[in-house]
Amino acid sequence: MIMNKKLNYFRAQIIDSVFKSGNGHIGGALSCLEIVYSIYKYGMQNPYKNRKKKDRDRFILSKGHACLAQYVVLSHLGFFKKQELNFFRSHRGILEGHPEVKIPGVETVTGSLGIGASFATGVALGLKMQKYNSKVYCIISDGECQEGIIWETAMFAGFKKLNNLTFFLDYNNLQQDGKITDVMNINPIVQKWKSFNWIVKTINGHNLMELKKVLKNRNKYKKPLLIVAKTIKGKGISFMENSLKWHGTKAPTKEEYLKALGELGFNRKLNY
Ligand SMILES: [Mg+2]
Repeated sequence: MIMNKKLNYFRAQIIDSVFKSGNGHIGGALSCLEIVYSIYKYGMQNPYKNRKKKDRDRFILSKGHACLAQYVVLSHLGFFKKQELNFFRSHRGILEGHPEVKIPGVETVTGSLGIGASFATGVALGLKMQKYNSKVYCIISDGECQEGIIWETAMFAGFKKLNNLTFFLDYNNLQQDGKITDVMNINPIVQKWKSFNWIVKTINGHNLMELKKVLKNRNKYKKPLLIVAKTIKGKGISFMENSLKWHGTKAPTKEEYLKALGELGFNRKLNY
């Protein structure tokens, strides 16, 4: 159980959106929620105020199916009204099932795995070439490390020593079809990224203090940084944790929805 009230509310919003839309990816969104929140809070400089500046910091969610984690934080920061969350994946609203550039705060389309990571690396290089001090943050998933483009990206960023680039690897050891270690093992993941000239740190991806510390210390390192964040798919809801059933695109029944909200401290439906 997560005791942080704000994070519990975000979790409830994610589940609420999927309940209302009838489908969506809950497991992976709950897995990376603290990481997304921490990037906006501790990594980026005034993300809302600077949103139109060329030298703004950037965040790219490469594991695009987890977009609700980003949407709830963006609405919390004022990028759009939280009522939009009522219309997730609906033609009545702007929030698509994967990030799309028409959504305020979203930098690029993601969802085809590996593409966001590659885009983030290109942007980090471009910002350096323009002599901006901007930072680029990106979240990839463990299953995503099975994509070839990830390793081209890793090689390129390491070779270019992109010290403005930070990746989080949302390591929940599950992907759509099973355990990472059963489907196609990506380990030893730390050694692999290190061999591409990245600094690698391992943390608990649900611990806000650890996330804050690693983000605040980012400037110490003169290379691209990979943070292996150990997480739990479906984190925060007893019957969703570590369950493949909640990868997507399943929506909770009304009973499951109310049970999940109850576990988060909400005794009735969210209404806004
Ligand atoms: Mg995973």
